[in-house]
Amino acid sequence: MVVVDLEKCVGCGECEDVCTFGAISIVDEKAVVDPDTCTLCGACEEACPEGAIEIEGEDISPAGGMDLDAWRGVWVVAEFRHDRFAPVTFELLGKGRQLADDLETDLTAVLMGSGVGEYAESLIERGADKVLVVDSPRLEQFLDDVYARILADMAQKEKPEIILAGATAMGRAFIPQVATILETGLTADCTGLEIAPEGRDLLQTRPAFGGNLMATIICDSTRPQMATVRPHVLKAMEPDASRQGEVIKIDPHEDLLKSNIKVLESVMEEAEGPMLTEAEVVITAGRGVENPKNIALIEKLAHCMEGGVGATRAVTDAEWLPGRCQIGQTGVTVSPKLYMGFGVSGAIQHLVGMQGSEIIVAVNKDPDAPVFDVATYGIVGDVKDILPLLVRRICQERGND
Ligand SMILES: Cc1cc2nc3c(=O)[nH]c(=O)nc-3n(C[C@H](O)[C@H](O)[C@H](O)COP(=O)(O)OP(=O)(O)OC[C@H]3O[C@@H](n4cnc5c(N)ncnc54)[C@H](O)[C@@H]3O)c2cc1C
Repeated sequence: MVVVDLEKCVGCGECEDVCTFGAISIVDEKAVVDPDTCTLCGACEEACPEGAIEIEGEDISPAGGMDLDAWRGVWVVAEFRHDRFAPVTFELLGKGRQLADDLETDLTAVLMGSGVGEYAESLIERGADKVLVVDSPRLEQFLDDVYARILADMAQKEKPEIILAGATAMGRAFIPQVATILETGLTADCTGLEIAPEGRDLLQTRPAFGGNLMATIICDSTRPQMATVRPHVLKAMEPDASRQGEVIKIDPHEDLLKSNIKVLESVMEEAEGPMLTEAEVVITAGRGVENPKNIALIEKLAHCMEGGVGATRAVTDAEWLPGRCQIGQTGVTVSPKLYMGFGVSGAIQHLVGMQGSEIIVAVNKDPDAPVFDVATYGIVGDVKDILPLLVRRICQERGND
């Protein structure tokens, strides 16, 4: 609790000014603290020029005096489904390598699944020093409670200071559970990860307030520091077959393998064209296509360029295209060789999902549309005029009509 020494307090109001929770007021020239509103953040104690304020009692922060130095090493959770690694695994290893080098520690990949052991070496080629393999037929289906318990159990024993995972359907399903079991923080959908210039804190940068500003978050009182990153945000290392590392087999305790979930059936979604996140060409519809009938032309252009169809949220909200086509902060991130946006305004929440594209072509009738700030080539004009011309010309030339 916050204790005010009334002898020392001169009622200067410094504590009231710094309290962002409105928990302190000056009454009869003395500081009065509302215990129901106070969060024990300590700002008033620091601000008081008279030393009249003190926080007393045991440390009730989640860390509760955790020995942060007992935690060392960087872990990357490898995602292996349908006979291959998700590309985000290699991207995380690329960043994990850099973080581990900065911290002068090891980079460990954690590989869980059924029949996955033989693929461990490729994680070493991509930057890992060690691979912890949990290979069990019981892990054939992805069961988020089981994966969460196994990873948390390994982390409790090995004590890594950082755990990175993909912000994929799988990562989103079980990584928050791991953070909850370990009673630590998790920053989701990071776009940047660096080590603080002093100390060993991980600076985790992500969009905040609807994408209108970037926030850098630290988890300075608990370990491990956990972060997820979306696919295509980071760059993978080139594989290096000469890299040496250690593969360690882990047998999880029987209790960890018990699940409350029963998977009845897994069905692969049938979608035409390449997966949007892996497409080299992405043709995107914005609200400026004006009419759902014009979506057919977007799809035709994508088809003849062997590309994927993307959309802004305005378009998916209007159900002109399905939600899986949405690019941006609350959709997918793409980084194709060529992105073409038709009637896309360039809202920040959309840009964060496509600005890693190599070439960006934007068509918009408003010359001041923000999308032109990131476009490599801009065409100011009406989508209804330009899209049919491009479809005719490109599809004819490619003989892919
Ligand atoms: C928390 C949050 C998360 C969000 N997440 C996402 C996200 O993941 N992805 C996303 O896309 N959005 C997201 N949004 C919404 C985002 O803010 C924008 O509202 C959205 O991207 C706008 O879509 P748009 O560009 O298609 O439509 P608009 O902003 O309405 O722009 C339409 C553009 O088309 C142009 N135009 C109109 N008619 C024509 C024509 N005939 N020819 C040429 N140009 C024309 C206009 O000049 C305009 O620039 C999010 C918003 C919030 C608050």
